Amino acid sequence: MAGVTQPAGPARVLVAGFPDTVASFLARQLRGASVEAAPDAAAARGLLARGGWSLLLLDYAVPGAGGAAGVLAGVADPPPVFLCTPHGGSAHADLPAVARTFTYPLDRQALVREAMAVLGLGGAPAEPSDAGGPEGGAARPDALADAVRQAWERFKGPVTARVDAIEEAAIAVLEGRLSDEARRHAEHEAHKLAGSVGTFGFAQGSRLARELETLLQGTAPLGQAEALRLTDAAVALRRELARPPQPATARPRAPHSEPAEPPRSLPLLLVVDDDAELAERIAMEASGRGMRARVARGVADARVAVADEPPAVALLDLSFARDGERGLALLAELAAHHPPIPVVVLTGSGAFADRVEVARMGGLGFLQKPVAPSTVVDAVEGVLHRGRQGRASVLAVDDDPLILEAVRALLGPAGVEVHTLGDPLRFWDTLEEACPDAVLLDIDMPQVGGIELCRVMRNDARWSATPVIFLTARTEAETVQRVFAAGADDYVAKPFVGPELVTRVTNRLERVQLHRALADSDPLTGVANRRRSDELMGQLLHLAVRNKKPFSLALLDLDHFKRINDRHGHGAGDEVLRRVARLLERGFRAEDVVARWGGEEFVVGMYGMDKDDAVQRLSEVLEQLRAEPFELTGAEPLRVTFSAGIAQFPVDGGELPALYRVADATLYQAKGAGRDRVLPAGWTAERPDPAQHLDVVVVEDDPALARLLLHALETRGYSSRWIADGREAAEALTGSRPPLRARLVLLDVDLPGMDGHAVLRRLARDRVLERTRVIVLTVRAHEAEVVQALEEGAFDHVSKPFSVPILLQRIRRAMMV
Ligand code: GH3
Ligand code: MG
Ligand code: MG
Repeated sequence: MAGVTQPAGPARVLVAGFPDTVASFLARQLRGASVEAAPDAAAARGLLARGGWSLLLLDYAVPGAGGAAGVLAGVADPPPVFLCTPHGGSAHADLPAVARTFTYPLDRQALVREAMAVLGLGGAPAEPSDAGGPEGGAARPDALADAVRQAWERFKGPVTARVDAIEEAAIAVLEGRLSDEARRHAEHEAHKLAGSVGTFGFAQGSRLARELETLLQGTAPLGQAEALRLTDAAVALRRELARPPQPATARPRAPHSEPAEPPRSLPLLLVVDDDAELAERIAMEASGRGMRARVARGVADARVAVADEPPAVALLDLSFARDGERGLALLAELAAHHPPIPVVVLTGSGAFADRVEVARMGGLGFLQKPVAPSTVVDAVEGVLHRGRQGRASVLAVDDDPLILEAVRALLGPAGVEVHTLGDPLRFWDTLEEACPDAVLLDIDMPQVGGIELCRVMRNDARWSATPVIFLTARTEAETVQRVFAAGADDYVAKPFVGPELVTRVTNRLERVQLHRALADSDPLTGVANRRRSDELMGQLLHLAVRNKKPFSLALLDLDHFKRINDRHGHGAGDEVLRRVARLLERGFRAEDVVARWGGEEFVVGMYGMDKDDAVQRLSEVLEQLRAEPFELTGAEPLRVTFSAGIAQFPVDGGELPALYRVADATLYQAKGAGRDRVLPAGWTAERPDPAQHLDVVVVEDDPALARLLLHALETRGYSSRWIADGREAAEALTGSRPPLRARLVLLDVDLPGMDGHAVLRRLARDRVLERTRVIVLTVRAHEAEVVQALEEGAFDHVSKPFSVPILLQRIRRAMMV
């Protein structure tokens, strides 16, 4: 047995070649140890090389070059190894450092006992019921959130059963065998979910459940289109409920209840509208999306509300006839408020339909009635989002820390984000990192003076237009002249007094922002326009070069958009574009760039993200878009999709134009491959023989599930094939010249013809597993079945019912070589 020397700190256990369930089982059982998992030999080698391990649990069949022996080859000082081997344990028992051999099926209790002995952990193993375990050390979340989370843990089971019932109904529809009784049951369950999950922090979950309920209502027969909508919504619901709940979400509230009820930290929306019903529906929708809402019936009411608590954003209906003039006055007041209150304007007829006029008065968004509450709140969210992004910032450079402190103290409360720098030699780095909207410079600094810095800025295309304001004690004519000659916009004499500095700086910033608002954003959707996006992409790429990080660029184009315009009118088309922009903004991080290039083409820039991750993200947006059809008055709901191509720096190009070209070519491929999908650059349908060399073979006898999986795989550009029969699958994949080759097989256990285990054994016997990985789909976690499958050579298992995104993550992992 290898020596048991404990490294300092908590015991660290490395689990190599097992499914995640084994690692999480050990993590639960070995309290006081930290457990990490390596999916394959290469990952295990990398982790081992870092040292500090107390125990290695190693599967003899760990995937990757060299197998178990390869993991340990060349490791100078390996920790004790527990090796898990099939029958008898002769294989690899001669490896160095093997302290103990376990054979399949694993005796988990023995494994835990032995591990505790080696790790020097006392006490009894944790009970399975302790699964969550006390999270030591982490900051305590607040009591309310805790209570909601605990309640959710208790309710999760029954809720999942409800989703199951709905999903079963959806599948029954697909197969044309949904009974009235099952339909009523599913509708009832959806109704229950709509009413409950929002409370637990799943606002989107509630909305999906409501959609499901609506779909199931009535007795009119459900067709294939409805069936697809049902499955999509059910899958989206399951995915939503798999996320951690967000207990901060406010509950919808009654018309005139106390506004103090939801937490004050949520943004407040003020709805100024005399149309009581519309106002209330908008307020409900807003509270469902994590805002607080307050309704004012008229201008006077609104003034009181603003004085009471200035809202984060206001929605102003200018269509009320009596108050039209006064409404415009209110609009101007809100814009002049300190800090300004962004306003989304709602109009009736053409009376105030002049966007320019409204924009001039300070209105940010503009909607024409009749309009759905969800669209209104989409617009409000967009404005809030822009507000967050659009907070103006300055960089102040001065070698006197006291001056920097003063600048911060004066400009901070005026709503300006202040970056400060005391060392002018670090000016460029800081400038690029902070990307300020204006720069404040001291003239006299050691090493490099402000005038010099200003001159260099003016000579760089990216900074030539950024306002520069000098802070200087020297106000004699000659200096002032030099300052302006260097390209300064303004100067403020030291010692400065508060109001003067604030006015000078905010004046500049306002001009910058006005200019930017007009020149930078796409008027229809509010996202960046092409010009601005080129600038922002340039900045992201620059950061990627400097920090040696990946950067991915996605180009996407709506599918058959012309048809939407032709059939439903340009207005509907515009609505679709706005919705896509919102979904993209919501689907990506604030630091990602979302822009509309014109027409129905969008780009997304993602710093620090490789193209596989980018495909995943964008596919999720696509699935969301597909799952939320557009409700059009008097027409069938409209399903919208897009196609996208993604290029990554540096592998697909070193400069923006090259990346654009590659992304565009890939987008073109996506269109050619059937639209409605997201492809990474380098994707190729031209395999040696595309009919025979597939990414994924799905062996599953349930047609609805198979269809769902194929759709999800296709969205992500994987080539795939469905086989419903076990024997057929075994025959297709084996033999000296197999009709089909696959990188991955998703294998159901319960199959007609030949069960999954038998298929797996055939694949192992014919050495197919050397080139093909298998993920077994088991029914609920039947431990024995899982262990058996792994013993037979499966790479991983996922238990049904599963969430599609999680299965896809596992698929990605299994496809990594
Ligand atoms: P594909 O799937 O091949 O991309 O087909 P498509 O119909 O989407 O492509 P095509 O380029 O033929 O049509 C694009 C249409 O987009 C044509 C134009 O009328 C419409 N369009 C462009 N800009 C706007 C806009 O701002 N609003 C609306 N409603 N339609 C627009
Ligand atoms: Mg198109
Ligand atoms: Mg197009």
